[in-house]
Amino acid sequence: MAEHYIPDDLPTRIQHYINGEFVDSVSGKTFDVLDPVSNETYATAAAGQQEDVDLAVAAARRAFTEGPWPRMKPRERARVLNRIADAVEAQETRLAQLETFDTGLPITQAKGQALRAAENFRFFADLIVAQFDDAMKVPGAQINYVNRKPIGVAGLITPWNTPFMLESWKLAPALATGNCVVLKPAEFTPLSASLWAKIFKDAGLPDGVFNLVNGLGEEAGDALVKHPDVPLISFTGETTTGKTIFRNAAENLKGLSMELGGKSPAIIFDDADLDAAIDSTLFGVFSLNGERCTAGSRILVQRGIYEEFCEKYAARAKNIVVGDPHDPKTEVGALVHPEHYEKVARYVEIGKGEGRLLAGGGRPENMPAGQENGNYIAPTVFADVKPDARIFQEEIFGPVVAITPFEDDAEALALANNTRYGLAGYVWTNDLTRAHTFSQNLEAGMVWLNSHNVRDLRTPFGGVKASGLGHEGGYRSIDFYTDQQAVHITLGSVHTPKFGATAQN
Ligand code: NAD
Repeated sequence: MAEHYIPDDLPTRIQHYINGEFVDSVSGKTFDVLDPVSNETYATAAAGQQEDVDLAVAAARRAFTEGPWPRMKPRERARVLNRIADAVEAQETRLAQLETFDTGLPITQAKGQALRAAENFRFFADLIVAQFDDAMKVPGAQINYVNRKPIGVAGLITPWNTPFMLESWKLAPALATGNCVVLKPAEFTPLSASLWAKIFKDAGLPDGVFNLVNGLGEEAGDALVKHPDVPLISFTGETTTGKTIFRNAAENLKGLSMELGGKSPAIIFDDADLDAAIDSTLFGVFSLNGERCTAGSRILVQRGIYEEFCEKYAARAKNIVVGDPHDPKTEVGALVHPEHYEKVARYVEIGKGEGRLLAGGGRPENMPAGQENGNYIAPTVFADVKPDARIFQEEIFGPVVAITPFEDDAEALALANNTRYGLAGYVWTNDLTRAHTFSQNLEAGMVWLNSHNVRDLRTPFGGVKASGLGHEGGYRSIDFYTDQQAVHITLGSVHTPKFGATAQN
């Protein structure tokens, strides 16, 4: 085993959690889990198959039809959610250590993720208590109201980039609204998902409401998507996987929420605060190792400040601290898995033929003992990238950025919208009119002006074009996880055409 930090009491066997019990796969099948610094197997995880998903869905279905959870008052469920948030906050350090060990994310950034996970539970606890629906009066004729109901068993399928936080993003609204769930976490990073089981049990969530099935996407994930007793699938992951899920969910006409890939532009006009834009666009693509769906991975810079921007940006990128994810000084850690490392490294090589390499370009040099085998890529900056280049068009999901010059607003907009994706956009200008006009014309689900991605949990979250279908966030998540039944009450006599009432001869 390579010399590097290993958290205390690291589990070496990761199981499913079904109906309040940790269990292995019925078949006994497992898969190996690697840590991204040594690339050695540190645990085996239960590889869920159809029969394991069937058991989990049956438990969730029973908890939904017979158990108290869907019938509890919002305040009662909110109390449980707040206890969950308390427990996540109390375990912040442990959670961050496990998450960093499993994903390779820098420890300082993993800590932020644990707090965000707790906040997601608090936020939806508040929202379901405050939530109300309309009643509508037709004077003298009808009163109509909305009867909002949980839907049933929600299938939650999540990626590996910020596993625990993204799981919380789905678990919190699904549970808050009274649904029961089956979570299928990403196979690269199954470690932290098991922590939910104890957190939920201790907080008073009834058995069967939360179920966890580990496994490969094509096996466990596929079985969940095709299961007839799972009316909802909330998925976050790659666009190609999203298309497969969309096709497979069609047979049972499921409700789908799809948060998919991105290739988001950051547009820097020549009147922007250049230093702030440089800080923010460095953070925007190199935080979370560049494994961030909303990464500003294409930077478009107005011609007059282009060379100055490139020079300053590259100098800072070269100075970014790449290293042991557990070291608090580390700014970019190890990519999650050797397969993903190979993919990102391939794009770096492609980029060398498509742009002017200003920083990085492969493995960082002189990694210390114990780190030589890690999935490290030096923050890589390419300038003069043409819009038809693959590194301009395709999601790399690593610490690699493409910089392209533009002359005026029209060219900037054409370049910004020139991809199949439409998740986020970042606009840097001090001109108020341009800021609003430009932002509103961006084909992006979310836009930040003079900032990187800073979330307000009440706002819509999601992409357009190939970046997703549907928006979650705030009340939109409540809408996704509930049916809104319209109940109509007649006041007085109802006016009905009297079919068959006329005598026939
Ligand atoms: P992925 O699509 O490979 O896997 C995501 C999940 O889907 C995993 O749990 C996987 O096991 C499962 N899966 C795979 N094939 C499946 C199938 N046929 N049926 C059912 N489930 C299946 O994505 P990833 O590599 O884990 O994550 C990276 C991607 O996620 C990037 O494209 C990134 O942009 C995207 N992402 C998007 C957002 C967002 O909110 N838009 C957030 C984070 C990540």
